Formats: sequence, structure tokens, C-alpha cells
Amino acid sequence: MLNIVLFGPPGAGKGTQSERLINRYGLVHLSTGDIFRSNIKGQTDLGNLAKGYLDQGKLVPDSVTIDLLRAEVMKHQTAKGFIFDGFPRTNAQAEALDVFLESMNTGITVMLSLDVEEDELKSRLIKRAEVSGRADDADPKIIDNRIAVYHKETAPVKSFYEKQGKLISIQGMGSVDEITERLFVSIDAL
Ligand code: ADP
Repeated sequence: MLNIVLFGPPGAGKGTQSERLINRYGLVHLSTGDIFRSNIKGQTDLGNLAKGYLDQGKLVPDSVTIDLLRAEVMKHQTAKGFIFDGFPRTNAQAEALDVFLESMNTGITVMLSLDVEEDELKSRLIKRAEVSGRADDADPKIIDNRIAVYHKETAPVKSFYEKQGKLISIQGMGSVDEITERLFVSIDAL
């Protein structure tokens, strides 16, 4: 299997690039953010629980997120591989992911980490708010909170994969096409 963690701060372009990678490599795209948002829209129990966290730019608790992700992976037993987008976002999530991929006799192939300057992230998120309708993109205070949470809780996940020799950093500044090309080159060289 080809299992990719597509990593980066909010606004790094994970969702946009994931769409291009799934087309080329035939992978299943699992975005925890998208799953939470569709549950919020459908007013499911999970959505009602997650809403308060998303609205404030906080992380949904690990126990909830890990169970959700495990269930999603199990739905795709015959997949050629996965792109994990927005997961893992804490070391506990990364550890849990290793354990359950191992139980499926597979593992993470690579973490591709998109590096983007902070000013650029903020301007992308403000621009996205105009089309996404996402409340967490529209409010600069919530954006700052998401970026702070990223530095404190999520950035350490990079070291987790670096220690396993699986981290590849990708320059995430430039056009969408240029960044896609860099990702393709890195994946094709695996
Ligand atoms: P972005 O990367 O632009 O912040 P996402 O769609 O990945 O957007 O995430 C939106 C929100 O969903 C996060 O701010 C958080 O509240 C919640 N979320 C997404 N993935 C996770 C996760 N793995 N663990 C906890 N919360 C998450």
C-alpha cells in the first residue's frame, strides 16, 4: 500500500493537493476536517460534539478523532492506499495510527510536509473564507488560534515521522501546479 500523511499548517494546501494525488495514484482521501464538517451539516451526534471545537479552532479530542479515523480506514479494506489529510494532528493520534495500520499489516509510507510562510497562510485562509463559508476561516482570531494550536500540538508530529526516517519537506509556496509537481516528484522517487 501507499499510505501518505499530507501534513502542514492550516491553509497549507493539503485539501487541494490531496485531490490531485488521489487522481494520479488511486488512493482513498481521508480528511478528518471534511468528515467533521459533513457530520456537523448532517447534525449527527459526532457533528454536534465536534461543532464547538471546530468553531473555536480547537482540536476535537483524540479519543473521538482516533475512533472516527479507524472506522473510516476499516471501510476501505481493499484500498490501494490512503492520503491522510489533517490526521494525525497530535503525537497520540500518530501512535494510534501506527498501531492500527500495523494490525492491517501495513504502515505509513511517507509524510509529505508542506512548508508555507505564516503571512501566506493567513492570506490564503481569509481568501478561502469568501468561497468556503467556513466560520473558522472568516475570523482572524480563530485563524490565529488554529495556527497556535498547530505549533503547540501538531508540529511535533513532524519529529515523530522524522525519527522513523519518513519525513519529506516540500516547499509549499508557489502556484498550485508547481506544488503538485513537487509532490509527484517526491512520490515517484519512493
Ligand atoms: P485546516 O487544516 O485548514 O485547519 P481542517 O479541515 O483540516 O482544516 O480542520 C478543521 C478543524 O477540524 C480543525 O481546526 C479541528 O477543529 C478539527 N480537526 C480536523 N482534524 C482533526 C484531528 N486530526 N484532530 C482533532 N481535530 C481535528
